[in-house]
Amino acid sequence: AQRPMPSPLTSAQQILHATFGYSTFRGEQQAIVEHVVSGGDALVLMPTGGGKSLCYQIPSLLRPGVGIVVSPLIALMQDQVDALKQLGVKAAFLNSSLEFDAAREVFTQLVRGELNILYVAPERLTMPNFLDTLEQVASGPGLALFAIDEAHCVSEWGHDFRREYRALSILHERFPSVPRIALTATADAPTRRDIVERLALEQARQFVSSFDRPNIRYRVTQKDNARKQLQVFLETEHANDAGIIYCLSRKKVEETAAWLKDQGWDALPYHAGLDPATRNTNQRRFLREEGVIMVATVAFGMGIDKPNVRFVAHLDLPKSMEGYYQETGRAGRDGLPADAWMAFGLGDVVSMRRLLDSGDAPEERKRLERQKLDALLGYCEATACRHQTILRYFGEEHPGNCDQCDNCLEPVDTWDATQAAQMALSCVYRTGQRFGVGYLIDVLLGKTTQQVERFQHQQLSTFGIGQDLSQSQWSSVYRQLVAGGLLEVDMEAFGGLRLTETARPVLKGKQEIWLRRDPEPAKRKSSRAER
Ligand code: ADP
Repeated sequence: AQRPMPSPLTSAQQILHATFGYSTFRGEQQAIVEHVVSGGDALVLMPTGGGKSLCYQIPSLLRPGVGIVVSPLIALMQDQVDALKQLGVKAAFLNSSLEFDAAREVFTQLVRGELNILYVAPERLTMPNFLDTLEQVASGPGLALFAIDEAHCVSEWGHDFRREYRALSILHERFPSVPRIALTATADAPTRRDIVERLALEQARQFVSSFDRPNIRYRVTQKDNARKQLQVFLETEHANDAGIIYCLSRKKVEETAAWLKDQGWDALPYHAGLDPATRNTNQRRFLREEGVIMVATVAFGMGIDKPNVRFVAHLDLPKSMEGYYQETGRAGRDGLPADAWMAFGLGDVVSMRRLLDSGDAPEERKRLERQKLDALLGYCEATACRHQTILRYFGEEHPGNCDQCDNCLEPVDTWDATQAAQMALSCVYRTGQRFGVGYLIDVLLGKTTQQVERFQHQQLSTFGIGQDLSQSQWSSVYRQLVAGGLLEVDMEAFGGLRLTETARPVLKGKQEIWLRRDPEPAKRKSSRAER
């Protein structure tokens, strides 16, 4: 009888066990490894923390030759390579941080076939002389595979476009027989389609994992006094934990980090405007020490593999659901309970709209960005299960009732706001569709301020008709009307509100409006505290 050939599967299992020290594959890892080992192309969509690295590391070890891993995360290459070396894998990296001699040494090892895995920055990979070297390797020791990590960087629809990624299509043209595996944690359909097209992965098998993160508890609170709210959140729930606090601007990052430090927290700033040495030190401290809080812009986080991040807090609105999912996804990678906490108010909508409108992107792109923001606003105001709302957005089903989000834990009270919405909308209309919320509320409450007198708005039919509701209730109504798309923020008019088509049936009494009832702010110091 013939002896059975050792199947690639048992060897993959052996490497998983002997080299990486794990007993079983997770989720789709095994299928992906098998597919790539047998020479197939793959597109892997797996959430952060799902275990994407093994999907190319094990095939790199099983196939003859070296696996070339493209990654935009230069700052992390050293760590990744060090970790692999610890496991006995012959790994190296090439990027702009290497000295000339060190880089030459890596080239030598590469050509001699002394490497299992090589991490390369995309701009390096597509340089003509490097491609020539790869030709040499291909006809000598061999190329095991190309792994394109953070593959969404190739797409302008994604949240982290890198121009250098576009040039990666050349890999397929020059090395058609080398299998490619593209990996990303970005799931939305337009980005996915774009990756396939840009990298010519039409023939690749797609492996789509569930994007559910059941151990993350999502919560969106209405912004009242954001710093105070953050402080209470930290003190009561995360007194000694590592976490990330996201802010929109560099300035706010600095201010928030300094303020937290004053309060005795071990907080560090991180944004692209800091010099590389400071960024590096702060990142290292966050990764290696316990209980460090990183206050950061979105520049921080991609590829950060810190398993015990216990919370991610948003003091400002992310740009999209993808952004929100990515950023919150950095919490709880170890599978233990973690919090995603966000404070959100109408001011955020205004500043985000301003940001989106101010760029000089083409109109089509701006429209898409506005749609993405609207989806996120819908999420913020959602009264349904948040896990379900997030997954729906990514085209995945979830039964709801997660018991792991604010809406499931404390079901939201809704109220028939049809009449209030009519008042709020008609006040916008009667004042000429150019005033901000503060002013509109003054008119509804019948406050004769200087400005009201100047415009003679005390004579309007909407003046003072809203006294049954409080200031904060009106601000909740307006926020939800904006989030629901009945009102839009007019950037030309300095953030004044304007009616949209959707408002018409409500004004005409043909449509009911139900809104969530926000808890009254405990202690309102001043409306300045809103931001
Ligand atoms: P991703 O790149 O998808 O965010 P990683 O590849 O960094 O995820 O893996 C996340 C964590 O899960 C790492 O700490 C990794 O060692 C661990 N891990 C991955 N696969 C397995 C497995 N099969 N068994 C146990 N732990 C795993």
